Amino acid sequence: MSRIATIEAIPYCIDYAKTLRFASGHVDKADHILLRIRTEDGVEGIADAPPRPYTYGETQRSIRAIIDEVLAPQLIGARADDTARTNEVLKRTVNNNVAKAAIDIALWDIKAKTYGTTLTRMLGGFTDRVQVAHMVGFAETRDVLAEVDSLIERYGITAFKVKVGRPDVQQDIDVCRALREKFGDDITMYADGNRGWNARESAFVMDALSELGLAFVEELNPASEAFGRRGIVRAACMPFVVDESAPTPSDVWRSLQDGDGTAVSIKTARTGFTDSLRIWGLCSSAGVDTVMGNQIDTQVGSLATVAFGAAFRETSAMAAEVSNFLDMEDDLQAEPLQIRDGCALVPDRPGYGAEIDEDKLAFYRTDS
Ligand SMILES: [Mg+2]
Repeated sequence: MSRIATIEAIPYCIDYAKTLRFASGHVDKADHILLRIRTEDGVEGIADAPPRPYTYGETQRSIRAIIDEVLAPQLIGARADDTARTNEVLKRTVNNNVAKAAIDIALWDIKAKTYGTTLTRMLGGFTDRVQVAHMVGFAETRDVLAEVDSLIERYGITAFKVKVGRPDVQQDIDVCRALREKFGDDITMYADGNRGWNARESAFVMDALSELGLAFVEELNPASEAFGRRGIVRAACMPFVVDESAPTPSDVWRSLQDGDGTAVSIKTARTGFTDSLRIWGLCSSAGVDTVMGNQIDTQVGSLATVAFGAAFRETSAMAAEVSNFLDMEDDLQAEPLQIRDGCALVPDRPGYGAEIDEDKLAFYRTDS
């Protein structure tokens, strides 16, 4: 195994065909960083870094700067397959979760390619596919129904995360009710509030939705409002997922101990593979459900989520949020991520399946 020769953080921008709106922000373009790490013997690892400034405080420019100015200089020359060692280097810099996760994913990609196996098999190899959950943003009820109808029809997707947390709580209640009325038990449905409500509003909505058979709810109110949050979690009759309030393995442990939630969202875009492994180990050992979450990822980012989700029984038990790239106008991935009969398939090639279309990268990159 050779050593890390270059680390390249490339800014690019691709528009979304449809804006995704949710309580903490909206996304109408993928202004991400494509990370390419090359070894001395020419093996390349790839990762996509999606900035989410309203959640984690990282921007496209900050991700590029922290990689170029702080992280890359510490890693050039290190053995590319020593992922535990490189992770110790990354951990010395606090925050910047998405930048660090991208480096970790690219290094695992190199490791799997070097050993000629899929990332999924290298991590655990439990299955070769994950059921897909699609994330539905704020919209008029009729538009949500049409979107869900089309996703069922075209891709066989039957699991849906409904974004909630609008100031007019009745809008969100109406959308969930209309979905259940139209599609019945043919769909699995859950709701993510992105901390948009307080405890009183969350309690009101949970009561109103109690007959709709939601699989779980997520981040309805802020975990930082500890008294209100813990009351809501105790009152919930379904698992309560912690997502952005617990972005690291240590945060996950603390929030479970504190009663901030009873299930955990794993996002490879913020914890890479190394820290996602720590969260999986922690949760699977403790009997805590995990959901493979979406950071509004491109196909490259979604492939990383699919690779990790398929690696273990626990992470593939619930539908993974890996289909929102369908709302993008284009993508850098050369071989499209396949969704068939409601499942995303692990590509059968070394690494986790990311392959860049160089013409598209040349067209969409914003640094040249
Ligand atoms: Mg969430």
